[in-house]
Amino acid sequence: MTVQLLGPAEIRDLAELLDVTPTKKLGQNFVIDANTVRRIVRVAEVEPGDVVLEVGPGLGSLTLGLLEADASVVAVEIDGRLAAQLPITVEQLAPEAVERLTVVHQDALTVDTLPADPVRLVANLPYNVSVPVLLHLLQRIPTLESGVVMVQAEVGQRLAAGPGSKVYGSPSVKAAWYGSWRTAGQVSRQVFWPVPNVDSILVAFQRHEHPGGTEQGEHRQGDALSEEALRRRLFAIVDAAFGQRRKMLRQSLSGVFGDSARASAALEAVGLPPTARGEELTMEQFLALARHTPGSTTP
Ligand code: SAM
Repeated sequence: MTVQLLGPAEIRDLAELLDVTPTKKLGQNFVIDANTVRRIVRVAEVEPGDVVLEVGPGLGSLTLGLLEADASVVAVEIDGRLAAQLPITVEQLAPEAVERLTVVHQDALTVDTLPADPVRLVANLPYNVSVPVLLHLLQRIPTLESGVVMVQAEVGQRLAAGPGSKVYGSPSVKAAWYGSWRTAGQVSRQVFWPVPNVDSILVAFQRHEHPGGTEQGEHRQGDALSEEALRRRLFAIVDAAFGQRRKMLRQSLSGVFGDSARASAALEAVGLPPTARGEELTMEQFLALARHTPGSTTP
């Protein structure tokens, strides 16, 4: 099915109709270019019949592209005026697809359950909350298998970074707990209205079969910690490790392990020198530390 997607004129008309002045606070930069929309849908490998979660549909640019690909869309929008208008826009431009759209007027950071079980996340995220939204949804919506999101370029590079990269940090390790990530192409500032003052990038993820990655991350019978407790401990260790980026882990992790002697012992037990720094460790090495509880000899 082909749908007339929103261009600059349609976006301005809709904004005028709704008396919407895009706000920075809600990261409202709307896509005005059909090629960009179709590119995102293509990179996300959306299949007919897929249930797609879109966060921040705004005026509907990407929503119409997802519907054009014959997906069903659950769209979570915080702005009431935009949430109310979206079904009307779809009714006008793609009437046969209106049944496949469900709009949820809610802050994505508070989403716990959804009216359908999405398999893909495809979104042009509000940039100021993109990482918390991603981590929240990956935690709360276990049916999400993969996704493509547009984020600020630095954030996308950070999400996809590995140890040794300058931008490797706590979001990189937390994201890697859930899945594998890659950047999937830059996006010009000119495809937005209003034009943002930062660069944008697409980032794609594929969720691991088991959190933490296969085999090593798989929750094992007899593990002292439940999967959720393990995640919490991992995230606490990662926050501590990168909170004091320049410090050696035996110092930065002393709070989490009790004191620096215990932190050193834990590091040695998992085969790491106490002089190591957070930026050198893979997610798997952080996970080994999280699994290590005082008294155990191997992770
Ligand atoms: N998808 C549209 C597009 O591509 O043109 C709009 C993208 S715009 C970058 C971000 C959208 O997210 C806005 O519509 C904004 O109102 C919405 N938004 C901001 N914070 C949100 C939140 N916490 N939960 C849900 N939606 C949010």
